[in-house]
Amino acid sequence: MLALQGDVREHAVTLEKLGCNVVEVRTPADLASVEALVIPGGESTTIFKLAEVFGMTEPLREAIASGLPVLGTCAGLILLAKEILDPASNQGSFGGLDISVRRNAFGNQNDSFETELAVRGIEGEVRAAFIRAPIVEALDHSVEVISTLPSGQIVGVRQGKVMGISFHPEIYGDARVHQLLVDSI
Ligand code: GLN
Repeated sequence: MLALQGDVREHAVTLEKLGCNVVEVRTPADLASVEALVIPGGESTTIFKLAEVFGMTEPLREAIASGLPVLGTCAGLILLAKEILDPASNQGSFGGLDISVRRNAFGNQNDSFETELAVRGIEGEVRAAFIRAPIVEALDHSVEVISTLPSGQIVGVRQGKVMGISFHPEIYGDARVHQLLVDSI
């Protein structure tokens, strides 16, 4: 669990439900000790800045590139994208998903919403909160789409062991998306 900023607590509770031993990752040594990583929602610009301050940017890039299973939600999805279409100044990412992502694609905080969504690999629907959520606007052919809105907008993708979703299932205590991550270890 990358624990620099964001809704770390909600993810930790969800992972504990699955029997995971949750490590709050803030240093390269923490990162080296985990079998999988969740990058939470929050503010991608802040998480990226803190990653730089903590000397975590290169270790994260290397770990993800060498096959660490990762789930990124919302800001976490942005931080996994190869390209951020409207980055804040000096904002970068850790890579892992060959996608282009647009931040705050639905407008500001007032345009946040909840819905039920199908996610490939999960039976039934997942309750999803979109909070200043990003959208995947372009993707490489090696990236699998695992969730879309009725409008066709892409809100969930997977490439190898790296998964990113625009929304937050963890705030409802739904552990099924996290289960997909655990299954990929
Ligand atoms: N808009 C935020 C960002 O750019 C993401 C919001 C979220 O994680 N809920 O990082």
